[in-house]
Amino acid sequence: MSQFINGTLSHSSSGNTAVVRDPSNGEAVSTVSYADSGDVDRAVAAAKAAFPGWSSATPAERSGALTTFATLLESRAEEIAQLESRQAGKPIRLAREFDVPGTIDNVAFFSGAARNLEGKATGEYSGSHTSSIRREAIGVIGSISPWNYPLQMAGWKILPAIAAGNTIVLKPSELTPLTSLLFAEIATEAGIPPGVVNVLTGTGSEVGAPLLQHPDVDMLSFTGSTRVGKTVLEAAATSAKRVHLELGGKAPFVVFDDADLEAAIHGAVAGSLINTGQDCTAATRAIVHRSLYRDFVDGVAELYRKVVLGATSVDDTDLGPLISRNHRDHVAAMVERARREARVVTGGRSPGGALASGFYYEPTLIADADPNSEIVREEVFGPVLAAMAFDSDDEAIRLANDTPYGLAASVWTRDLYRALNATQQVRSGCVWVNDHISIISEMPHGGMKQSGFGKDMSTYSFDEYTIVKHVMYDRTGTARRDWHRTIFRNPGN
Ligand code: NAD
Repeated sequence: MSQFINGTLSHSSSGNTAVVRDPSNGEAVSTVSYADSGDVDRAVAAAKAAFPGWSSATPAERSGALTTFATLLESRAEEIAQLESRQAGKPIRLAREFDVPGTIDNVAFFSGAARNLEGKATGEYSGSHTSSIRREAIGVIGSISPWNYPLQMAGWKILPAIAAGNTIVLKPSELTPLTSLLFAEIATEAGIPPGVVNVLTGTGSEVGAPLLQHPDVDMLSFTGSTRVGKTVLEAAATSAKRVHLELGGKAPFVVFDDADLEAAIHGAVAGSLINTGQDCTAATRAIVHRSLYRDFVDGVAELYRKVVLGATSVDDTDLGPLISRNHRDHVAAMVERARREARVVTGGRSPGGALASGFYYEPTLIADADPNSEIVREEVFGPVLAAMAFDSDDEAIRLANDTPYGLAASVWTRDLYRALNATQQVRSGCVWVNDHISIISEMPHGGMKQSGFGKDMSTYSFDEYTIVKHVMYDRTGTARRDWHRTIFRNPGN
């Protein structure tokens, strides 16, 4: 049963089924039925019917349900981690220590934030009126999420939307729908009313597209590639819907000549390989001062060779597979094309032996990459880091910004003034100083340029999921007002 509509798991009437496979060994994890447009209609209708009740619940009521939700998730953390690990091919350590606790913390954060929706103070701006600001929920949110962090992305999409009083229909990636379904089930168990959170399983064209076009969906919220994000933007344009887009990234990792080299090397390895590099904020372009370049490349290569690829169920495994055969082939083909013009220092192969039945790919370091080459400009979304040298700070910033994306970046320096300048000049939604990847529920995540617009996490996400309404009260109590002179020449008579 793969559609979660109005608080109940149900089968789709489409008759189309698909097997969700573990990318680490190709084994079936579950068989799901794909939704059809009738299911989209049912889910949107359920969300629409739930909206008046949920949006008028008190902040304390919404907060209370989210608090119970966090507690229930905590009690089932291991089960959720196992499922996430299997459907997405994540090492169990990553699922246990990052995906699941991160999501629970997000739920806990939004249970508090639900009680802190604010506007400007009420005031008398014209003298003869009192103005107040209402921050209101938008309605039914149609949301689509990717496969790389299925549980976390479900949380990032669902939590700010419902904390602010909206209802939602989420379509997770067809490759990884299982933890989104479980998340919605547990939300309902926690007391979030039926219809507030609905999840549909299926492909982008068969389920995503009708969801985007649905006339009763009030806002579109999408996380995924820039290519599909542009389709979402077109759908929003034709129906004048509000839209929030979290898209691709190509994060620069800038190492200035005064950086702590050991910290930068460790940061680059962890920051580029997290989730097998399938992370929109992963370090992908190491831009390193020429005086440190050779040592940096040698240091990263040495650590890359020590990373353990293995069965995802084993606690010692550092790196899991890529999500699918297609995606592994895409990553391998990009590395092969890069070989023609740059140096593959380590990696560049799929391991054989016991791992051959999974979609594994070795950590791959490419040195002396041309800033204009495909490997530097396009999203690889795999365990691949391209390194290049720079000579001046201006050149480093120019290289960091030389990309259509603007999601995340890091700068590595011990000089406060350099850090201040670089964080101001790098065009991305987040800049880390002497770190890369760390996220926190209280702080926003979102992009610039072709990485999209709008924020996930933090109370900034409420700017996406609420409408600010101005209410203006007359204070004079008179029938005739001065401003009526625009129509009646003499309002006094
Ligand atoms: P994708 O764009 O291929 O798919 C994302 C979702 O869109 C999936 O659910 C898919 O079924 C759906 N979809 C595909 N075509 C559609 C269509 N025509 N209409 C409606 N829905 C459609 O992305 P992916 O391969 O699942 O995920 C990887 C991408 O996501 C990378 O580009 C990555 O950078 C990005 N990402 C961004 C963030 C962020 O916060 N900015 C976070 C995670 C992933």
